[in-house]
Amino acid sequence: MISRNPREPGLISIVIPVFDEAANLDALIPRLFGLLEREGLTSEVICIDDGSRDQTWDRLVAWRAHYPALTLVGLSRNFGKEVAIAAGLDIAEGNAVILMDGDLQHPPEVIPEFIAQWRAGYDIAYGVRRNRDHDGALRRALSRAFYRVFNSISDTLITADAGDFRLMDRKVVDAIRRMRERARFMKGIYAWVGFKSVSVEFAVTERAHGKSSFSSKRLFGLAFDGILSFSTVPLRIAMYAGAVIAFASIALGTYYLVRTLIFGIDVPGFASIIVSTLALSGFTMLQIGLMGLYLGRIYDEVKARPLYLVREIIGKAAASEIVGANSALSLIKGPV
Ligand code: UDP
Ligand code: MG
Repeated sequence: MISRNPREPGLISIVIPVFDEAANLDALIPRLFGLLEREGLTSEVICIDDGSRDQTWDRLVAWRAHYPALTLVGLSRNFGKEVAIAAGLDIAEGNAVILMDGDLQHPPEVIPEFIAQWRAGYDIAYGVRRNRDHDGALRRALSRAFYRVFNSISDTLITADAGDFRLMDRKVVDAIRRMRERARFMKGIYAWVGFKSVSVEFAVTERAHGKSSFSSKRLFGLAFDGILSFSTVPLRIAMYAGAVIAFASIALGTYYLVRTLIFGIDVPGFASIIVSTLALSGFTMLQIGLMGLYLGRIYDEVKARPLYLVREIIGKAAASEIVGANSALSLIKGPV
C-alpha cells in the first residue's frame, strides 16, 4: 500500500475515441452520465470523433443537449485510435483522465474502482480483462508470441493485459502528451512513462454494435510498429548476421586461395558459388529492407507534421489555451 494523503478528486476527465459508434453511443452516454451523477463526480466527458462515416457526430451533438459536460472533438479524418486518444489527452483538463472505448466493451461501472485506487495514491489504474474468450485460439497464441518476442528484444517491458481502459493521473497524462511520435504504440508508451500502477479486473463484454476496427492485418501492422518503435535489436541482428557471413567468406576465400596455390585450378564448384551468391544477396537485401523500415520511420518523424487535425470542437470555450503547440488548435489559428 502506498502511504500518501488521499487525493481530492476535483475534475475527472473521461476520454472516449469513437469511430463509427453511433449505435453504441446511444447506450453508452446515458449509462456513463448516470453513473457519474450517482457517484457525485465532477467530470467532463470528451468524445473524439475519429472521422466517423456514420451518424456518430450527429448523435454526439444531440446528446450534448442533454449533457452539457460533454465536449466533442471532431477530427478532420480517421487518424486511428491511438491518435484520437492523443487528441483527447491534449484537451482533457482533469486531475485524472480515464480512457475508455465507445463500444461498451469497457463497462463504466469500473470507473469508481479506478478512482478509489487513484485516491489511494496510485498514478495509474489499468483495467485487466478477466476473460479473453471472445478472441479465437490462434489470435491468443499469436498475441502471446508477440509479447514474448517484444519483451525479449525491447528494454521497455510491456504486459499483455494492460490495455487502453485506464485512469491516469495528471502527471502521467502530461508525460504522455510530451510524446508526439507518429508511430504510437500505446502499450509501449504506457510502459515507457512508468509511474505507480495497479491493475483492476473487469469483465470484457462482446462489442454491442458493429465490428472491431482492428482486423488481423491491422493488428499485425500494430505489432510490427511496436517492435520497430521500441527496439533496434532487429537492426543489430542484421548487422551480426552480416558480420558472420563476411568473416565466413574471408575464411573460405583464404582456404580457396591456399588450395589453388597448392593444387592448381579445378573446375567443380558451381553449386557452392551459386548458393553463396544467392544467400549473400538475400541477406544484403534483408538488411537494406530492415534499414529502410527504420529510415522510413525517421522520415515520418522528421516531417514533424501535426499528429491530427481538428475539424470542429463543441463545448470548450477556452480549448485553444489548453491545447499546446504542435497540435490541433494552434494549427486552426495558423502557425504559432
Ligand atoms: N476507434 C477509433 N479510431 C479507429 C478505430 C477505433 O477511435 O480508427 C475507437 C472505436 O470507436 C472504439 C475503440 O477505438 O471506441 C476501440 O475500437 P475497437 O472496438 O474497434 O477495437 P477492439 O475493441 O477490437 O480493440
Ligand atoms: Mg472494441
